[in-house]
Amino acid sequence: MARTVAGLVPFTSIDFPGYLAAVIFFQGCPLRCPFCHNPNLQSVTESLQTWQEAFDFLKTRQKRLDGVVLSGGEPLMQPDVQNMLQQLKDLGFKTAIHTSGVYPDRLREILPFLDWVGLDIKGPWDKYDILSGRKKMVEKVQESLKILIGSDVDFECRTTCDPNHLTPADTLQIAQDLKKMGVQTYALQKYNTFPEDKSPPSVMEIESFFTSESLSPIQKLYPKLIVRK
Ligand code: SF4
Repeated sequence: MARTVAGLVPFTSIDFPGYLAAVIFFQGCPLRCPFCHNPNLQSVTESLQTWQEAFDFLKTRQKRLDGVVLSGGEPLMQPDVQNMLQQLKDLGFKTAIHTSGVYPDRLREILPFLDWVGLDIKGPWDKYDILSGRKKMVEKVQESLKILIGSDVDFECRTTCDPNHLTPADTLQIAQDLKKMGVQTYALQKYNTFPEDKSPPSVMEIESFFTSESLSPIQKLYPKLIVRK
């Protein structure tokens, strides 16, 4: 499979904690999350940009950026993701990926080429089939999580708080389950509505995840809980 680059964001200060970075988005994702805000990246069509174009641009940013994030879609669908990370390392960049965690074997292989991982946790384990749009993904995500916990690579687990599919009680359940497994860094991300969303939640519903009542039990588990609003 060719590298299916969908686009590049030249600058971000929030997608790779602690670093100024660019983000390369890839097409292709095996999941069908009902709240996906990038549905145009789920299927592989014609690449909108080549890897070489993205790479050539990054060469011009070596002195201005600290790192590069591979995101999607699901960047671990790229069979030669390891080579891409090596190329970025050769330019002197720190490297990160955003992943749904459904390719644990590939994650294990590329850990030596990574400085940070953002692992999406879609919902409580017993709702994963619905929230990922695919069956039997829980075991794969849990395996990825165990791999990260047992590694030296810095990572966070994060959940997007879509009120049409999750409740604040669900996020507390996720936080408890992750804590039991040994997760240290957890982030709650605000759901942003998007044009294709035919029944977007209200502002009040979105904000319900971020009241002190909803946050405080999670903050007890994670004193450094990250809240991205
Ligand atoms: S994992 Fe991400 S890109 Fe894939 S369907 Fe879910 S939200 Fe969309």
